Amino acid sequence: MPDISCKLLVIGGGPGGYVCAIRAGQRGVDTVLVERAQLGGSCLNIGCIPSKALIHAGEEFHRARGFASGSGLPGISAGAPSLNFAETQAWKDGIVRRLTGGVASLLKSAGVKVIEGTARFQDGKTVQVSTTTGEQLVRAEAVVIATGSKTVALPGLPFGGNVISSTEALALNQVPERLAVVGAGYIGLEIGTAYAKLGAHVTVVEAEDRILPQYDAALTRPVAARLKDLGVTVHLGAKARRSAGDALVVESADGDETRLPADKVLVAVGRRPRTDGWGLEELALEMDGHAVRIDEQCRTAMRGVYAIGDVTGEPMLAHRAMAQGEMVAELVAGERRAWDKQCVPAICFTDPEIVTAGLSPDAARAQGIEAKSGTFPFRANGRAMTTGRDDGFVRVVARADNEAVIGLQAVGEGVSELASEFALALEMGATLEDIAATVHPHPSRGEAVQEAAFKTLGRGLHL
Ligand code: FAD
Ligand code: NAD
Repeated sequence: MPDISCKLLVIGGGPGGYVCAIRAGQRGVDTVLVERAQLGGSCLNIGCIPSKALIHAGEEFHRARGFASGSGLPGISAGAPSLNFAETQAWKDGIVRRLTGGVASLLKSAGVKVIEGTARFQDGKTVQVSTTTGEQLVRAEAVVIATGSKTVALPGLPFGGNVISSTEALALNQVPERLAVVGAGYIGLEIGTAYAKLGAHVTVVEAEDRILPQYDAALTRPVAARLKDLGVTVHLGAKARRSAGDALVVESADGDETRLPADKVLVAVGRRPRTDGWGLEELALEMDGHAVRIDEQCRTAMRGVYAIGDVTGEPMLAHRAMAQGEMVAELVAGERRAWDKQCVPAICFTDPEIVTAGLSPDAARAQGIEAKSGTFPFRANGRAMTTGRDDGFVRVVARADNEAVIGLQAVGEGVSELASEFALALEMGATLEDIAATVHPHPSRGEAVQEAAFKTLGRGLHL
Protein backbone atom coordinates (compact mmCIF):
# COMPACT_ATOMS: atom_id res chain seq x y z
CA MET A 1 0.00 0.00 0.00
CA PRO A 2 1.39 3.45 -0.83
CA ASP A 3 2.23 5.58 2.21
CA ILE A 4 -0.22 8.30 3.21
CA SER A 5 0.88 11.80 4.21
CA CYS A 6 -1.53 14.11 6.00
CA LYS A 7 -1.57 17.11 8.27
CA LEU A 8 -3.43 15.42 11.14
CA LEU A 9 -3.66 11.79 12.18
CA VAL A 10 -6.12 10.88 14.93
CA ILE A 11 -5.71 7.51 16.64
CA GLY A 12 -9.03 6.31 18.03
CA GLY A 13 -12.58 7.02 16.89
CA GLY A 14 -14.28 7.53 20.28
CA PRO A 15 -15.90 10.83 21.36
CA GLY A 16 -12.48 12.46 21.69
CA GLY A 17 -11.05 11.25 18.40
CA TYR A 18 -14.09 11.49 16.15
CA VAL A 19 -15.00 15.01 17.34
CA CYS A 20 -11.39 16.12 16.81
CA ALA A 21 -11.35 14.66 13.30
CA ILE A 22 -14.74 16.14 12.31
CA ARG A 23 -13.81 19.63 13.49
CA ALA A 24 -10.38 19.41 11.83
CA GLY A 25 -11.97 18.26 8.58
CA GLN A 26 -14.50 21.11 8.75
CA ARG A 27 -11.60 23.53 9.16
CA GLY A 28 -9.99 22.20 5.98
CA VAL A 29 -7.26 20.25 7.76
CA ASP A 30 -6.24 17.17 5.78
CA THR A 31 -7.20 14.54 8.39
CA VAL A 32 -6.92 10.76 8.73
CA LEU A 33 -8.60 8.84 11.57
CA VAL A 34 -7.63 5.28 12.50
CA GLU A 35 -10.04 3.09 14.47
CA ARG A 36 -9.36 -0.55 15.23
CA ALA A 37 -12.88 -1.50 16.33
CA GLN A 38 -16.09 0.54 15.97
CA LEU A 39 -16.43 4.27 15.37
CA GLY A 40 -17.95 5.90 18.46
CA GLY A 41 -15.53 4.20 20.86
CA SER A 42 -16.51 3.05 24.32
CA CYS A 43 -19.15 5.74 24.70
CA LEU A 44 -21.38 4.82 21.80
CA ASN A 45 -20.71 1.09 21.64
CA ILE A 46 -20.18 -0.20 25.18
CA GLY A 47 -20.61 2.77 27.51
CA CYS A 48 -22.74 5.90 27.80
CA ILE A 49 -25.38 5.08 25.20
CA PRO A 50 -26.10 1.36 25.74
CA SER A 51 -26.04 1.85 29.52
CA LYS A 52 -28.53 4.70 29.35
CA ALA A 53 -30.80 2.63 27.09
CA LEU A 54 -30.70 -0.23 29.61
CA ILE A 55 -31.35 2.17 32.51
CA HIS A 56 -34.40 3.51 30.67
CA ALA A 57 -35.66 0.01 29.89
CA GLY A 58 -35.25 -0.92 33.56
CA GLU A 59 -37.22 2.15 34.62
CA GLU A 60 -40.07 1.38 32.19
CA PHE A 61 -40.34 -2.23 33.33
CA HIS A 62 -40.17 -1.29 36.98
CA ARG A 63 -42.89 1.32 36.51
CA ALA A 64 -45.10 -1.20 34.73
CA ARG A 65 -44.58 -3.68 37.57
CA GLY A 66 -45.56 -0.92 39.99
CA PHE A 67 -48.87 -0.46 38.18
CA ALA A 68 -49.46 -4.22 38.31
CA SER A 69 -48.72 -4.50 42.02
CA GLY A 70 -50.69 -1.42 43.00
CA SER A 71 -47.59 0.48 44.19
CA GLY A 72 -47.61 2.87 41.21
CA LEU A 73 -49.46 6.16 40.83
CA PRO A 74 -52.76 6.07 42.77
CA GLY A 75 -55.67 5.21 40.55
CA ILE A 76 -53.68 3.58 37.78
CA SER A 77 -53.43 -0.18 37.54
CA ALA A 78 -52.45 -2.61 34.83
CA GLY A 79 -51.76 -6.31 34.35
CA ALA A 80 -48.38 -7.87 35.07
CA PRO A 81 -45.88 -6.81 32.38
CA SER A 82 -43.68 -9.31 30.58
CA LEU A 83 -40.13 -8.79 29.44
CA ASN A 84 -38.69 -9.98 26.15
CA PHE A 85 -35.13 -8.98 26.94
CA ALA A 86 -33.82 -10.01 23.52
CA GLU A 87 -36.14 -7.44 21.93
CA THR A 88 -35.10 -4.80 24.43
CA GLN A 89 -31.45 -5.51 23.63
CA ALA A 90 -32.18 -5.33 19.89
CA TRP A 91 -33.78 -1.89 20.43
CA LYS A 92 -30.66 -0.78 22.32
CA ASP A 93 -28.37 -2.15 19.59
CA GLY A 94 -30.42 -0.26 16.99
CA ILE A 95 -29.76 3.03 18.81
CA VAL A 96 -26.03 2.26 18.88
CA ARG A 97 -26.08 1.46 15.15
CA ARG A 98 -27.90 4.70 14.33
CA LEU A 99 -25.41 6.75 16.29
CA THR A 100 -22.26 5.03 15.03
CA GLY A 101 -23.60 5.24 11.47
CA GLY A 102 -24.17 8.95 12.07
CA VAL A 103 -20.54 9.38 13.16
CA ALA A 104 -19.35 7.66 9.96
CA SER A 105 -21.50 10.03 7.85
CA LEU A 106 -20.30 13.11 9.73
CA LEU A 107 -16.66 12.09 9.22
CA LYS A 108 -17.32 11.55 5.54
CA SER A 109 -19.06 14.92 5.16
CA ALA A 110 -16.10 16.59 6.86
CA GLY A 111 -13.74 14.96 4.34
CA VAL A 112 -11.94 12.79 6.92
CA LYS A 113 -10.29 9.64 5.64
CA VAL A 114 -11.11 6.75 7.99
CA ILE A 115 -8.84 3.71 8.12
CA GLU A 116 -10.00 0.56 9.89
CA GLY A 117 -6.99 -0.86 11.64
CA THR A 118 -4.71 -0.75 14.66
CA ALA A 119 -2.26 2.14 14.79
CA ARG A 120 1.24 1.87 16.22
CA PHE A 121 3.79 4.68 16.39
CA GLN A 122 7.12 4.13 14.68
CA ASP A 123 8.20 7.60 15.73
CA GLY A 124 6.45 10.86 16.63
CA LYS A 125 5.45 11.56 13.03
CA THR A 126 5.08 8.08 11.57
CA VAL A 127 2.42 5.54 12.41
CA GLN A 128 2.02 2.03 11.06
CA VAL A 129 -1.56 0.83 10.71
CA SER A 130 -2.29 -2.90 10.59
CA THR A 131 -5.41 -3.42 8.50
CA THR A 132 -7.12 -6.58 7.28
CA THR A 133 -5.53 -6.03 3.88
CA GLY A 134 -2.00 -5.23 5.03
CA GLU A 135 0.26 -2.65 6.64
CA GLN A 136 -0.29 1.02 5.94
CA LEU A 137 2.23 3.74 6.79
CA VAL A 138 0.82 7.16 7.68
CA ARG A 139 3.05 10.24 8.05
CA ALA A 140 1.49 13.23 9.76
CA GLU A 141 2.52 16.70 10.86
CA ALA A 142 0.45 16.31 14.02
CA VAL A 143 -0.84 13.17 15.76
CA VAL A 144 -3.62 12.96 18.35
CA ILE A 145 -3.66 9.97 20.70
CA ALA A 146 -7.30 9.27 21.60
CA THR A 147 -7.09 5.59 22.50
CA GLY A 148 -9.43 5.77 25.49
CA SER A 149 -9.44 3.50 28.50
CA LYS A 150 -10.03 -0.10 29.46
CA THR A 151 -11.62 -2.04 32.27
CA VAL A 152 -9.57 -2.87 35.37
CA ALA A 153 -9.69 -6.49 36.59
CA LEU A 154 -9.28 -7.61 40.20
CA PRO A 155 -6.45 -10.07 40.92
CA GLY A 156 -8.73 -12.75 42.40
CA LEU A 157 -11.50 -12.19 39.88
CA PRO A 158 -10.17 -12.39 36.32
CA PHE A 159 -12.78 -11.78 33.63
CA GLY A 160 -14.25 -14.92 32.07
CA GLY A 161 -17.09 -17.33 32.80
CA ASN A 162 -19.60 -15.66 35.08
CA VAL A 163 -17.21 -12.81 35.97
CA ILE A 164 -18.02 -10.00 33.56
CA SER A 165 -17.17 -6.38 32.85
CA SER A 166 -19.62 -3.63 31.89
CA THR A 167 -19.21 -4.61 28.22
CA GLU A 168 -20.66 -8.08 28.75
CA ALA A 169 -23.17 -6.82 31.33
CA LEU A 170 -24.65 -4.50 28.71
CA ALA A 171 -24.90 -7.31 26.16
CA LEU A 172 -26.48 -10.11 28.25
CA ASN A 173 -29.25 -11.96 26.47
CA GLN A 174 -31.18 -12.61 29.65
CA VAL A 175 -31.57 -10.90 32.98
CA PRO A 176 -29.51 -12.82 35.56
CA GLU A 177 -31.48 -14.11 38.49
CA ARG A 178 -28.75 -13.12 40.96
CA LEU A 179 -26.28 -10.40 40.04
CA ALA A 180 -23.36 -9.50 42.29
CA VAL A 181 -21.78 -6.15 41.55
CA VAL A 182 -18.26 -5.34 42.72
CA GLY A 183 -17.80 -1.58 43.08
CA ALA A 184 -20.51 0.93 44.01
CA GLY A 185 -19.16 3.55 41.61
CA TYR A 186 -20.66 4.90 38.40
CA ILE A 187 -20.83 1.64 36.47
CA GLY A 188 -21.73 -0.68 39.33
CA LEU A 189 -24.67 1.44 40.47
CA GLU A 190 -25.95 2.50 37.05
CA ILE A 191 -25.99 -1.04 35.63
CA GLY A 192 -26.79 -2.71 38.97
CA THR A 193 -29.89 -0.52 39.40
CA ALA A 194 -31.01 -1.18 35.83
CA TYR A 195 -30.86 -4.94 36.38
CA ALA A 196 -32.58 -4.65 39.77
CA LYS A 197 -35.45 -2.89 38.00
CA LEU A 198 -35.46 -5.56 35.31
CA GLY A 199 -36.04 -8.17 38.01
CA ALA A 200 -32.58 -9.39 39.10
CA HIS A 201 -31.67 -9.86 42.78
CA VAL A 202 -28.75 -7.47 43.01
CA THR A 203 -26.06 -7.37 45.69
CA VAL A 204 -23.41 -4.65 45.64
CA VAL A 205 -20.01 -4.97 47.29
CA GLU A 206 -18.08 -1.76 47.93
CA ALA A 207 -14.64 -1.48 49.52
CA GLU A 208 -15.20 2.00 50.94
CA ASP A 209 -17.60 2.74 53.77
CA ARG A 210 -20.22 4.34 51.50
CA ILE A 211 -21.55 4.14 47.97
CA LEU A 212 -20.22 6.51 45.28
CA PRO A 213 -17.32 7.62 47.50
CA GLN A 214 -16.31 10.24 44.90
CA TYR A 215 -19.41 12.29 45.81
CA ASP A 216 -20.20 13.93 49.15
CA ALA A 217 -22.44 11.97 51.50
CA ALA A 218 -25.44 14.32 51.26
CA LEU A 219 -25.65 13.73 47.51
CA THR A 220 -25.49 9.95 47.79
CA ARG A 221 -27.99 9.51 50.65
CA PRO A 222 -31.12 9.54 48.44
CA VAL A 223 -29.46 6.98 46.14
CA ALA A 224 -28.71 4.67 49.08
CA ALA A 225 -32.33 4.99 50.24
CA ARG A 226 -33.64 4.15 46.78
CA LEU A 227 -31.37 1.10 46.46
CA LYS A 228 -32.90 -0.15 49.71
CA ASP A 229 -36.43 0.43 48.36
CA LEU A 230 -35.50 -1.51 45.23
CA GLY A 231 -34.34 -4.44 47.33
CA VAL A 232 -30.65 -4.06 46.42
CA THR A 233 -28.37 -5.34 49.20
CA VAL A 234 -25.25 -3.24 49.70
CA HIS A 235 -22.18 -4.51 51.57
CA LEU A 236 -19.93 -1.60 52.51
CA GLY A 237 -16.32 -1.80 53.66
CA ALA A 238 -16.19 -5.19 51.95
CA LYS A 239 -13.71 -6.44 49.35
CA ALA A 240 -14.50 -8.96 46.65
CA ARG A 241 -11.83 -11.66 46.82
CA ARG A 242 -12.64 -14.44 44.34
CA SER A 243 -15.42 -16.28 42.64
CA ALA A 244 -16.20 -19.83 43.75
CA GLY A 245 -18.63 -21.65 41.47
CA ASP A 246 -21.88 -19.73 41.58
CA ALA A 247 -20.79 -17.53 44.48
CA LEU A 248 -18.70 -14.44 45.06
CA VAL A 249 -16.42 -14.57 48.09
CA VAL A 250 -16.31 -11.30 49.95
CA GLU A 251 -14.11 -10.19 52.83
CA SER A 252 -15.66 -7.80 55.33
CA ALA A 253 -13.73 -5.03 57.10
CA ASP A 254 -13.13 -7.32 60.13
CA GLY A 255 -11.67 -10.07 57.93
CA ASP A 256 -14.67 -12.43 57.82
CA GLU A 257 -15.41 -14.16 54.53
CA THR A 258 -18.97 -14.44 53.16
CA ARG A 259 -20.21 -16.29 50.06
CA LEU A 260 -22.74 -14.33 48.04
CA PRO A 261 -24.69 -16.52 45.59
CA ALA A 262 -24.37 -15.05 42.08
CA ASP A 263 -25.15 -16.16 38.53
CA LYS A 264 -23.10 -13.24 37.21
CA VAL A 265 -20.47 -11.11 38.90
CA LEU A 266 -20.05 -7.64 37.40
CA VAL A 267 -16.64 -6.21 38.29
CA ALA A 268 -16.74 -2.41 38.04
CA VAL A 269 -13.78 -1.12 40.05
CA GLY A 270 -12.58 1.58 37.67
CA ARG A 271 -11.07 2.09 34.24
CA ARG A 272 -7.47 2.76 33.23
CA PRO A 273 -6.02 4.78 30.33
CA ARG A 274 -5.25 2.56 27.31
CA THR A 275 -1.52 3.05 26.96
CA ASP A 276 -0.67 -0.33 25.46
CA GLY A 277 -0.78 -1.50 21.86
CA TRP A 278 -0.02 1.81 20.13
CA GLY A 279 3.74 2.03 20.70
CA LEU A 280 4.08 4.18 23.79
CA GLU A 281 7.57 2.74 24.18
CA GLU A 282 8.62 4.33 20.84
CA LEU A 283 7.83 7.81 22.14
CA ALA A 284 9.41 10.04 24.76
CA LEU A 285 6.10 10.91 26.48
CA GLU A 286 5.82 11.94 30.08
CA MET A 287 3.25 10.12 32.18
CA ASP A 288 0.99 11.03 35.09
CA GLY A 289 0.67 7.65 36.76
CA HIS A 290 -1.12 5.48 34.19
CA ALA A 291 -2.19 8.47 32.06
CA VAL A 292 -0.40 10.41 29.32
CA ARG A 293 0.61 13.80 30.73
CA ILE A 294 -0.76 16.80 28.85
CA ASP A 295 -0.59 20.56 29.22
CA GLU A 296 -3.42 23.10 28.89
CA GLN A 297 -3.43 22.60 25.12
CA CYS A 298 -3.45 18.79 25.33
CA ARG A 299 0.16 18.73 24.11
CA THR A 300 2.26 15.81 25.29
CA ALA A 301 5.98 16.04 26.00
CA MET A 302 6.64 15.36 22.28
CA ARG A 303 6.30 18.16 19.75
CA GLY A 304 3.31 17.64 17.44
CA VAL A 305 1.86 14.80 19.52
CA TYR A 306 -1.37 15.57 21.40
CA ALA A 307 -3.44 13.35 23.70
CA ILE A 308 -7.13 13.71 24.56
CA GLY A 309 -9.86 11.87 26.43
CA ASP A 310 -9.61 8.93 28.79
CA VAL A 311 -5.99 8.17 27.85
CA THR A 312 -5.12 11.42 29.67
CA GLY A 313 -6.78 10.27 32.91
CA GLU A 314 -9.56 11.66 35.11
CA PRO A 315 -12.23 12.78 34.71
CA MET A 316 -12.88 10.00 32.19
CA LEU A 317 -16.04 11.46 30.72
CA ALA A 318 -17.21 11.61 27.12
CA HIS A 319 -18.01 15.33 27.12
CA ARG A 320 -14.51 16.17 28.39
CA ALA A 321 -12.98 14.05 25.61
CA MET A 322 -15.17 15.83 23.03
CA ALA A 323 -14.28 19.30 24.33
CA GLN A 324 -10.59 18.44 24.24
CA GLY A 325 -10.95 17.03 20.73
CA GLU A 326 -12.68 20.16 19.46
CA MET A 327 -9.97 22.34 21.02
CA VAL A 328 -7.07 20.35 19.58
CA ALA A 329 -8.59 20.41 16.08
CA GLU A 330 -8.77 24.20 16.27
CA LEU A 331 -5.17 24.37 17.49
CA VAL A 332 -4.01 22.23 14.57
CA ALA A 333 -6.02 24.50 12.25
CA GLY A 334 -3.98 27.43 13.56
CA GLU A 335 -6.29 28.94 16.19
CA ARG A 336 -5.12 30.15 19.60
CA ARG A 337 -6.91 27.95 22.11
CA ALA A 338 -6.26 26.64 25.63
CA TRP A 339 -8.21 24.60 28.17
CA ASP A 340 -9.83 27.37 30.18
CA LYS A 341 -13.01 25.59 31.27
CA GLN A 342 -14.48 26.53 34.63
CA CYS A 343 -15.84 23.04 35.14
CA VAL A 344 -16.43 19.61 33.64
CA PRO A 345 -19.88 18.71 34.94
CA ALA A 346 -20.52 15.08 35.88
CA ILE A 347 -23.77 13.15 35.91
CA CYS A 348 -24.26 9.85 37.63
CA PHE A 349 -27.31 8.17 36.11
CA THR A 350 -28.32 6.41 39.29
CA ASP A 351 -31.83 6.53 40.75
CA PRO A 352 -32.12 9.34 41.61
CA GLU A 353 -29.55 11.01 39.38
CA ILE A 354 -26.65 13.03 40.77
CA VAL A 355 -25.13 16.08 39.08
CA THR A 356 -22.04 17.99 40.10
CA ALA A 357 -20.42 21.06 38.57
CA GLY A 358 -17.63 23.05 40.18
CA LEU A 359 -16.86 22.89 43.87
CA SER A 360 -18.83 21.31 46.71
CA PRO A 361 -18.73 23.13 50.07
CA ASP A 362 -16.07 20.64 51.29
CA ALA A 363 -13.95 21.05 48.15
CA ALA A 364 -14.14 24.85 48.47
CA ARG A 365 -13.03 24.62 52.10
CA ALA A 366 -10.17 22.30 51.13
CA GLN A 367 -9.00 24.96 48.66
CA GLY A 368 -9.09 27.60 51.38
CA ILE A 369 -12.03 29.44 49.81
CA GLU A 370 -14.47 30.99 52.23
CA ALA A 371 -17.80 29.88 50.80
CA LYS A 372 -21.48 29.90 51.61
CA SER A 373 -24.05 27.48 50.31
CA GLY A 374 -27.78 26.90 50.26
CA THR A 375 -29.91 23.90 49.38
CA PHE A 376 -33.49 23.64 48.21
CA PRO A 377 -35.28 20.30 48.59
CA PHE A 378 -37.47 18.89 45.83
CA ARG A 379 -40.15 18.16 48.44
CA ALA A 380 -40.94 21.90 48.21
CA ASN A 381 -40.91 21.92 44.39
CA GLY A 382 -44.28 21.61 42.66
CA ARG A 383 -42.98 19.89 39.53
CA ALA A 384 -41.17 17.23 41.57
CA MET A 385 -44.37 16.51 43.49
CA THR A 386 -46.34 16.05 40.25
CA THR A 387 -43.90 13.37 39.09
CA GLY A 388 -44.32 11.37 42.27
CA ARG A 389 -40.63 11.73 43.08
CA ASP A 390 -39.74 14.59 45.40
CA ASP A 391 -36.58 13.12 46.97
CA GLY A 392 -33.32 15.05 46.58
CA PHE A 393 -32.27 18.69 46.44
CA VAL A 394 -30.30 21.37 44.60
CA ARG A 395 -27.29 23.02 46.25
CA VAL A 396 -25.55 26.25 45.28
CA VAL A 397 -22.05 27.13 46.50
CA ALA A 398 -20.75 30.70 46.24
CA ARG A 399 -17.73 32.68 47.38
CA ALA A 400 -18.52 34.50 50.61
CA ASP A 401 -16.75 37.71 49.49
CA ASN A 402 -18.28 38.45 46.06
CA GLU A 403 -21.07 35.85 45.81
CA ALA A 404 -19.65 34.40 42.59
CA VAL A 405 -21.11 30.93 42.13
CA ILE A 406 -18.35 28.31 42.31
CA GLY A 407 -20.37 25.12 42.50
CA LEU A 408 -23.77 23.63 41.77
CA GLN A 409 -24.89 20.15 42.71
CA ALA A 410 -28.16 18.24 42.69
CA VAL A 411 -29.62 14.85 43.38
CA GLY A 412 -33.10 13.95 42.22
CA GLU A 413 -35.09 12.35 39.44
CA GLY A 414 -34.26 13.90 36.07
CA VAL A 415 -31.65 16.33 37.40
CA SER A 416 -29.27 15.31 34.59
CA GLU A 417 -31.09 17.93 32.53
CA LEU A 418 -30.02 20.63 35.02
CA ALA A 419 -26.34 19.90 34.38
CA SER A 420 -26.12 22.24 31.41
CA GLU A 421 -27.63 25.17 33.38
CA PHE A 422 -25.07 24.47 36.10
CA ALA A 423 -22.16 24.44 33.64
CA LEU A 424 -23.39 27.56 31.83
CA ALA A 425 -23.73 29.47 35.11
CA LEU A 426 -20.15 28.60 36.04
CA GLU A 427 -18.70 29.33 32.58
CA MET A 428 -20.49 32.71 32.46
CA GLY A 429 -19.23 33.62 35.93
CA ALA A 430 -22.74 33.92 37.37
CA THR A 431 -23.29 35.37 40.82
CA LEU A 432 -26.03 34.32 43.22
CA GLU A 433 -27.98 37.42 42.15
CA ASP A 434 -27.70 36.40 38.46
CA ILE A 435 -29.32 33.03 39.18
CA ALA A 436 -31.88 34.53 41.53
CA ALA A 437 -32.79 37.18 38.93
CA THR A 438 -33.22 34.68 36.09
CA VAL A 439 -36.87 33.81 35.48
CA HIS A 440 -37.08 30.02 35.85
CA PRO A 441 -40.21 28.58 34.24
CA HIS A 442 -42.93 27.09 36.38
CA PRO A 443 -43.49 24.31 37.17
CA SER A 444 -40.03 22.85 36.67
CA ARG A 445 -37.27 21.28 38.69
CA GLY A 446 -35.09 24.19 37.56
CA GLU A 447 -36.99 26.46 39.94
CA ALA A 448 -35.13 24.68 42.74
CA VAL A 449 -31.88 26.16 41.36
CA GLN A 450 -33.28 29.69 41.63
CA GLU A 451 -34.69 28.90 45.08
CA ALA A 452 -31.32 27.56 46.25
CA ALA A 453 -29.75 30.84 45.14
CA PHE A 454 -32.47 32.82 46.99
CA LYS A 455 -31.81 30.75 50.10
CA THR A 456 -28.06 31.31 49.92
CA LEU A 457 -28.78 35.04 49.67
CA GLY A 458 -30.86 34.73 52.84
CA ARG A 459 -34.22 35.42 51.21
CA GLY A 460 -35.78 32.05 50.41
CA LEU A 461 -39.27 32.30 48.91
CA HIS A 462 -40.93 28.91 48.96
CA LEU A 463 -39.29 27.50 52.08
P1 FAD B 1 -12.94 5.78 23.81
O1 FAD B 1 -14.37 6.09 23.71
O2 FAD B 1 -12.54 4.64 24.68
O3 FAD B 1 -12.40 5.55 22.33
C1 FAD B 1 -11.11 5.14 22.08
C2 FAD B 1 -11.09 4.42 20.74
O4 FAD B 1 -9.74 4.20 20.36
C3 FAD B 1 -11.76 3.06 20.78
O5 FAD B 1 -12.78 3.00 19.80
C4 FAD B 1 -10.64 2.08 20.49
O6 FAD B 1 -11.05 0.97 19.71
C5 FAD B 1 -9.66 2.96 19.71
N1 FAD B 1 -8.27 2.51 19.78
C6 FAD B 1 -7.55 2.20 20.89
N2 FAD B 1 -6.29 1.87 20.56
C7 FAD B 1 -6.21 1.99 19.20
C8 FAD B 1 -5.17 1.78 18.25
N3 FAD B 1 -3.95 1.41 18.64
N4 FAD B 1 -5.45 1.98 16.95
C9 FAD B 1 -6.69 2.35 16.54
N5 FAD B 1 -7.71 2.57 17.39
C10 FAD B 1 -7.47 2.39 18.70
N6 FAD B 1 -19.06 9.01 30.12
C11 FAD B 1 -19.95 10.01 30.20
O7 FAD B 1 -19.57 11.18 30.02
N7 FAD B 1 -21.28 9.77 30.44
C12 FAD B 1 -21.74 8.51 30.64
O8 FAD B 1 -22.94 8.33 30.86
C13 FAD B 1 -20.82 7.44 30.57
N8 FAD B 1 -21.24 6.17 30.76
C14 FAD B 1 -20.34 5.15 30.65
C15 FAD B 1 -20.78 3.85 30.85
C16 FAD B 1 -19.90 2.79 30.75
C17 FAD B 1 -20.39 1.38 30.97
C18 FAD B 1 -18.53 3.04 30.43
C19 FAD B 1 -17.56 1.90 30.27
C20 FAD B 1 -18.07 4.33 30.23
C21 FAD B 1 -18.97 5.40 30.35
N9 FAD B 1 -18.56 6.72 30.18
C22 FAD B 1 -19.46 7.74 30.30
C23 FAD B 1 -17.16 7.06 29.88
C24 FAD B 1 -17.00 7.33 28.37
O9 FAD B 1 -17.38 6.19 27.64
C25 FAD B 1 -15.55 7.70 28.08
O10 FAD B 1 -15.16 8.79 28.90
C26 FAD B 1 -15.37 8.10 26.62
O11 FAD B 1 -15.76 7.07 25.75
C27 FAD B 1 -13.90 8.46 26.38
O12 FAD B 1 -13.73 8.80 25.04
P2 FAD B 1 -12.31 8.58 24.33
O13 FAD B 1 -12.49 9.10 22.95
O14 FAD B 1 -11.24 9.14 25.17
O15 FAD B 1 -12.07 7.02 24.32
P1 NAD C 1 -15.55 4.14 39.78
O1 NAD C 1 -14.22 4.67 40.13
O2 NAD C 1 -16.68 5.07 39.58
O3 NAD C 1 -16.02 3.13 40.94
C1 NAD C 1 -15.26 2.02 41.34
C2 NAD C 1 -15.69 1.62 42.73
O4 NAD C 1 -15.13 0.34 43.02
C3 NAD C 1 -15.19 2.58 43.81
O5 NAD C 1 -16.28 2.98 44.61
C4 NAD C 1 -14.17 1.75 44.58
O6 NAD C 1 -14.10 2.10 45.94
C5 NAD C 1 -14.70 0.33 44.39
N1 NAD C 1 -13.72 -0.76 44.54
C6 NAD C 1 -12.43 -0.79 44.11
N2 NAD C 1 -11.86 -1.98 44.41
C7 NAD C 1 -12.81 -2.73 45.03
C8 NAD C 1 -12.84 -4.05 45.57
N3 NAD C 1 -11.79 -4.87 45.53
N4 NAD C 1 -13.99 -4.50 46.14
C9 NAD C 1 -15.08 -3.68 46.21
N5 NAD C 1 -15.09 -2.42 45.71
C10 NAD C 1 -13.99 -1.96 45.12
O7 NAD C 1 -15.32 3.20 38.50
P2 NAD C 1 -16.36 2.52 37.49
O8 NAD C 1 -17.71 2.47 38.08
O9 NAD C 1 -15.71 1.27 37.05
O10 NAD C 1 -16.37 3.54 36.29
C11 NAD C 1 -15.16 3.83 35.58
C12 NAD C 1 -15.20 5.18 34.96
O11 NAD C 1 -16.10 5.18 33.85
C13 NAD C 1 -15.72 6.29 35.86
O12 NAD C 1 -14.73 6.82 36.69
C14 NAD C 1 -16.21 7.29 34.87
O13 NAD C 1 -15.10 8.06 34.47
C15 NAD C 1 -16.69 6.45 33.71
N6 NAD C 1 -18.18 6.34 33.76
C16 NAD C 1 -18.93 7.47 33.75
C17 NAD C 1 -20.30 7.38 33.79
C18 NAD C 1 -21.11 8.65 33.79
O14 NAD C 1 -20.57 9.69 33.47
N7 NAD C 1 -22.39 8.60 34.12
C19 NAD C 1 -20.92 6.15 33.83
C20 NAD C 1 -20.13 5.01 33.84
C21 NAD C 1 -18.76 5.13 33.78
